[in-house]
Amino acid sequence: MQGIAFLGDRNVELRSFPDPAPGIGEVVLQMKASGICGTDLMLYRRPASAVGAPVIGGHEPCGVVAALGPGVDATRVRIGDRVMVHHYFGCTVCEHCRSGWAQLCQSTPVAVYGNNANGGHAPYLVVPAATLIALPDELSFETGAAISCGSGTAYAALRRLNVSGHDTVAIFGQGPVGLAGTQFAKAFGARVIALDVSPVRLARAAEFGADVSIDPSSADAVAEIMAATGGRGADAVLETSGATSAATAAVRAARIWGSVCLVSGQGPLDVNILADLVFRQITVFGSWTFSAAGQMECARFVVERAVDVDRIFTHRWALSAASEAYRLTDSQAAGKGVFLM
Ligand SMILES: [Zn+2]
Ligand SMILES: [Zn+2]
Repeated sequence: MQGIAFLGDRNVELRSFPDPAPGIGEVVLQMKASGICGTDLMLYRRPASAVGAPVIGGHEPCGVVAALGPGVDATRVRIGDRVMVHHYFGCTVCEHCRSGWAQLCQSTPVAVYGNNANGGHAPYLVVPAATLIALPDELSFETGAAISCGSGTAYAALRRLNVSGHDTVAIFGQGPVGLAGTQFAKAFGARVIALDVSPVRLARAAEFGADVSIDPSSADAVAEIMAATGGRGADAVLETSGATSAATAAVRAARIWGSVCLVSGQGPLDVNILADLVFRQITVFGSWTFSAAGQMECARFVVERAVDVDRIFTHRWALSAASEAYRLTDSQAAGKGVFLM
């Protein structure tokens, strides 16, 4: 079969891979949707010299079960089941694997589908049955793809920030993760201050319900957030942009006793520990995607609150359009893209 591989230096190619055959405990999924997410851009942009044997990209896979390998319990996993994938697989027995956080496994090299193991940018994907998460009937395959990384990351971060209808949340970056953050924070009942240097992205954030929009390239982000909150600062701050200055601004824009969650980032966090953190009682933490149970919870929330996750996608592609899809994603002129099979 043909799958999309990242060859480095911004080259992607549809190339031949062996037809999938499930091993012990594995299933073959027929892919229906495979999202494009931020980590894919890192893989796309890395130098060719850093790329080993190519694997199929795509870590937001969503599809249906097409074949069961030996040892898969056919009473629990059935051909035709609509599924997402928790896109990591570790040793299965350590405390992290057993708590559903396989990405934190320290016992063995963790398989990350679409990164160091074949992912979803292909007609088929082989994964352990244990990675499957049921896709509720109410949700489209595209929504399942978004929940599988980008939107799920935003949801998990807001949950850890304990965001509710009492809160004003400032969200740095309104790319696919930040925009999903705006969407979920509104569904949690919060007031949202959206920040981005792109007027197009700020306009999208407003369409998604953002109450205040700030362009940090033309205004002092911290001062604007203070002004929008009566001088208090934001109750919670989510930093998704990865911009060098954003993490520091995120900390300074939080109110006394506020919380700051970083899901992206470059460069050092330039804060004065006493002035910015201790004397303001600030909590700062990082958040890396979500557990398998967290992915299930996100899907359930999307169903019960009728969150229109599909709306996050601006571009739908065929696998054959891989080069164009990634070129456009790389330009950051577009929103989120997804391959549909
Ligand atoms: Zn991702
Ligand atoms: Zn483990």
